Amino acid sequence: MIIPIFVPHEGCPNDCAFCNQRTISGKNSAPSIIEARNVIEAHLESADKKAKQIAFFGGSFTGIDVKKQNEYLSLALEYIKKGVVESIRLSTRPDYIDRETVKRLLSYGVRNIELGAQSMDDTVLLRSNRGHSSADVEKAAQIITESSAVLGLQMMTGLPFDNDEKCLYTARRFYELGAKETRIYPTVVLGGTLLAKMYEDGEYKPQTVEDAVSISAKLYRYFKEKDIEILRIGLPDGDDLKKNYIAGAYHPSLGEMVISRDVRNRLKKEIKASTDVYVNPRFISKFNGNKRCNIDYFKEKGITLNVILDESIEEYEIRRS
Ligand code: SF4
Repeated sequence: MIIPIFVPHEGCPNDCAFCNQRTISGKNSAPSIIEARNVIEAHLESADKKAKQIAFFGGSFTGIDVKKQNEYLSLALEYIKKGVVESIRLSTRPDYIDRETVKRLLSYGVRNIELGAQSMDDTVLLRSNRGHSSADVEKAAQIITESSAVLGLQMMTGLPFDNDEKCLYTARRFYELGAKETRIYPTVVLGGTLLAKMYEDGEYKPQTVEDAVSISAKLYRYFKEKDIEILRIGLPDGDDLKKNYIAGAYHPSLGEMVISRDVRNRLKKEIKASTDVYVNPRFISKFNGNKRCNIDYFKEKGITLNVILDESIEEYEIRRS
């Protein structure tokens, strides 16, 4: 179990085109140490007093005042020393990482460092107003992989001047840079952002849910094959997000839709005629797809999938007779 603590927009002087941290996290300011402690205690209470990690998400953690960072980290370290939490995870910007910073983070028990890389294409980064380049991602990734920390690289799809080819290039670079974890966030246009203005002015065409599912399924397969753990696909659901949504690839079940599309892509390669298919019951909704779209997809091609539930099969496995 992860105990997430949101540190929204704290210390971030940037204004990425898509970003409205307050909307994503549902909070206006960073939590005080007392509030952070309350979050940890509440989670531990509900999880039988043990958790894998305390995670500082939502902004540019290493961009905030160092004293404040250390206060958060000391708080988390307290729980590591008590033996109720194993380590710390955090997310930050690629241009807020250097060797000294990583050394300091490690001394507090940080194990996983996730960088919001978003894309490895410099035009996409520039047009998204990211304020860093792909070279910054490369440099930060090297510093992290040379340390004992685990590197995570987060990416987005559907950014300005982005396309499927650039997304797949970004995924390949993540692998080459030594990422062990990733998150895939299809772009959502939120009120009050630069992207919303670009959209209203006709300068930006948002990605549809179908576009996002299609490219994310390809990314999903690539990361799976390279043994890069996919921690999340799509923004977390929430009232604030729904309230501020203007356009783009938002769906509360996006992650499940992507896995279902991956199932379809795999079956498309293998199945040419009606057949029995054995699936773990826990995997059946992903196998069938949203409103049984995978079953219908094959039916339209004259192929009937006779699905047989079998507990003995691994959750993500698909076996044929
Ligand atoms: S760097 Fe992160 S927190 Fe800052 S504006 Fe960009 S996305 Fe938002």
